[in-house]
Amino acid sequence: MPNTPRRSTHASASHGEDGALSFRSIHASPELLRQLRQRFSGAPVPILLVGEEGAGKHYIARRLAAAWLCERPDPEKGACGTCTSCHLMNDGAHFDHVVVEPPEGKGRIPVALVRERVSETLDIFPQISRRRVYTVNAEKADTLSEQGQNALLKPLEEHPEFVRFILLVEDAERLLPTIVSRCAIIRIGRRSEQDIASILRAHGVRDEAAIKAGVRFGEGLPGQALHIAEDESFQALRERVFALFVALPDASVAWCLTKGLEALKSEKSSIRLVLSLLASFVRDLLILRDEVRGIAIINHDYRDQLAAMLALPEKRRSDPGEALRLINQTAQALNFNVNFDHATARLLLCLRARLGGHVVSPDAFLADPLVSK
Ligand SMILES: [Zn+2]
Repeated sequence: MPNTPRRSTHASASHGEDGALSFRSIHASPELLRQLRQRFSGAPVPILLVGEEGAGKHYIARRLAAAWLCERPDPEKGACGTCTSCHLMNDGAHFDHVVVEPPEGKGRIPVALVRERVSETLDIFPQISRRRVYTVNAEKADTLSEQGQNALLKPLEEHPEFVRFILLVEDAERLLPTIVSRCAIIRIGRRSEQDIASILRAHGVRDEAAIKAGVRFGEGLPGQALHIAEDESFQALRERVFALFVALPDASVAWCLTKGLEALKSEKSSIRLVLSLLASFVRDLLILRDEVRGIAIINHDYRDQLAAMLALPEKRRSDPGEALRLINQTAQALNFNVNFDHATARLLLCLRARLGGHVVSPDAFLADPLVSK
């Protein structure tokens, strides 16, 4: 993969083209699109869009909002993309689209902002569209405090007929049950490889190698896939993670806790991607070890080095299956905000043991961080 910037026509995919605001620009399962169309034409129930980071919540919310605001919407396609309302939506300057999100540089939406932007404007008639749409970006668990959620309750329940609400969250279970029960939930799941490839092309990614990397390592998440496909540093990251990975079986415990841990700490901002790369290496080890026919390994450029990792000295046996379980467990633990250093140090020590065929220490340090927390 060339180390050159691939991003050039990103903006053109979402601006200016007819149809770019339409439901047809959403590459997702037929079921998700069915739900979206149904909610668009149905009763004015607040919509709760639930999806993990990078799942495409903002992209989909914009298209639902555009459809509700459009002057000539179509039940199948949603927004027309050419009317005044759609132009304003494209410019991010629609008077009847109210976005409630944390102020720049802040992680939380102040309660006062919910009151000022939602409660106090609820009865004002729309200016150019027939509706007014409120999009509330409450993605992270603490973006909207309990107080903030309480301030939203009444508007969600009682509002003029022309008002529509879209709430964006990563985890609906962290919201007050009273909020969830007032909404219709649409869950945005992971996309198929084909959808991811279409999404990348629609966003102007032309380099086939970049598209392949996005599909392979994007884990069905458009945001992650785009990040990979557009980021020239991805290949360098992959090389660094592989260097760490191949060093583990013969590394010392001390090396894991110093050099190895430092390496992971320096990739902290991309840790999800690092774990996904590690998982892809281990999956390839499993395929190579079991000689699974008909399944191609992902990292074919590392095939020889991976095969060499399976050939351990006598009496040492690797356990890639257990290694994969550990990586998934670590990813899950980090989602729950466990101590980063602890979780990654444990991962390194356990990977060293599982991949190098060393005895696993019964040390409490190696206990599951979710259990021992
Ligand atoms: Zn329109």
